[in-house]
Amino acid sequence: MNFNTKTIHGGQKHEEATGSVMPPIFQTSTYAQSSPGQHKGYEYSRAANPTRTALENNFAAIENCTHGFAFSSGLSAIDCVLKMLSSGDEVIAGDDLYGGTYRMFTRMFEKYGLNFQFVDTNEVTNVTNAVSQSTKLVWLETPTNPLMKIADIEKISEAVKAKDPNILIAVDNTFATPYLQQPLNLGADIVMHSATKYLGGHSDLVMGALMVKDKNLAEKLHFIQFAGGAIAGPMDAFLALRGIKTLHVRMQRHCENGRAIAEFLKNHHKVGEVYYPGFKDHPNHKVAKKQMRDFGGMVSFRLSDKSREAAFKFLENTRVFTLAESLGGVESLVNHPATMTHASIPETERIKIGVTDSLIRLSVGIEDINDLIDDLRRTLTL
Ligand SMILES: *Cc1c(COP(=O)(O)O)cnc(C)c1O
Repeated sequence: MNFNTKTIHGGQKHEEATGSVMPPIFQTSTYAQSSPGQHKGYEYSRAANPTRTALENNFAAIENCTHGFAFSSGLSAIDCVLKMLSSGDEVIAGDDLYGGTYRMFTRMFEKYGLNFQFVDTNEVTNVTNAVSQSTKLVWLETPTNPLMKIADIEKISEAVKAKDPNILIAVDNTFATPYLQQPLNLGADIVMHSATKYLGGHSDLVMGALMVKDKNLAEKLHFIQFAGGAIAGPMDAFLALRGIKTLHVRMQRHCENGRAIAEFLKNHHKVGEVYYPGFKDHPNHKVAKKQMRDFGGMVSFRLSDKSREAAFKFLENTRVFTLAESLGGVESLVNHPATMTHASIPETERIKIGVTDSLIRLSVGIEDINDLIDDLRRTLTL
C-alpha cells in the first residue's frame, strides 16, 4: 500500500460482529473469560484494548514497521524509551529539543543516574565525537523545535552504529510526520511522536506514539508500558485514528501554506531571520531535501526589532493565528518559545541556542492562505 492508502486502511479491518467500518470505541477495562486464562486476546485494558490495537496497527503501518504503541502523552512515550536504560548509561541528544523533553532528561532521569550530553546535531561529527563506552541511546529531533535545524538521520545512524551497533537511535518525528520523513527507513531504531500534534491533527487530544520494527525492542517497550501503565484511552485512540485518515491531505496543505508564509516573511522589511528548512540558504537544506518529501508547516522568525515588546505586540494582535501552545492542528497558532513551550529550559541555555525573546514560532494551519498572510501583514504594520 502507498502512504495515502495506509493512513486510511493501514492495519485496519472491519469490526467482525457488525461490519462497522470504523472500529468501535471499546470503553471497557476488562473482558469475559470462559475459563481461567481462556480469553479472546484481551484480558485487561492496560495490557491491550481493541480500539487502541486498531490505532497501534495503524501507527505501525504509517511508519512502515511492525509495532506501534499508543501512550497517554508524547512525554510518556519518551519516558518509556528512557526506562529501557540503567543507571550509568549515557544518552546523546540534540541541543534544541522540545522543552518538555529537555526537562524530563535533566530533571527526572539525571536523578536516576542517566547522563545526558546535548550536542548540535547539524553536524554528524558532533554526535559521533560524543559517543563513549556508556552511550546507549541517541535522541534526535529533526526538524528541531523551534529553530528548525536539520539532522541527517541516515548519516548519524550509520556513523553511530559503526562505532557501536548496540546504540539505539531514536527520532522524535513529531514535526515531520511519516508523510514527510520515515526515520526507520533511514537507519533509526525507534520513532516517537507527540500524536497530540499532526497525527491527531485537530487539537482535541493528548497522546504519544512509539513505532519500532524490531521484535525484541517491541517486547521491551510493551513490557515497560504495561508495567508502568502510560496507555492511551479508547476514546482518544478513536480520535487519533480518525485524525490520521486525513494526515496526507492535511500535510500537503500545511506544506503549501508553510512555504508561502516563509517566503512572505522573508521578503517583509519588518522581519529579520526566518527559520525554514525549505530555503536554499538554510544550513542543512540539502539534507532536508534528501530525507523529507517537503518542508512542513512550522516556520520560526524574528522581527527586525529584536525587543521583547515588539515580539509581544505581534503575539497579542494576530487574529487568525491564535496565541497558544502546541502545534500541528488544522488551525494556525503562534507561540513565544521563550515564555511558553521552552520556558522549562534555563535562560542561559535558551540564549546560548538562540531561543531569545525575539523568536516567534508559527504552526501554519490549513486555512485559506490569503487570510493567513493578510493576518500577518496587518499585524506587522501595527
Ligand atoms: C509536544 C511535543 C512533545 C511532547 O508531547 P506531549 O504530547 O505534549 O506530551 C514532544 N516532542 C515534540 C517535538 C513536541 O512538539
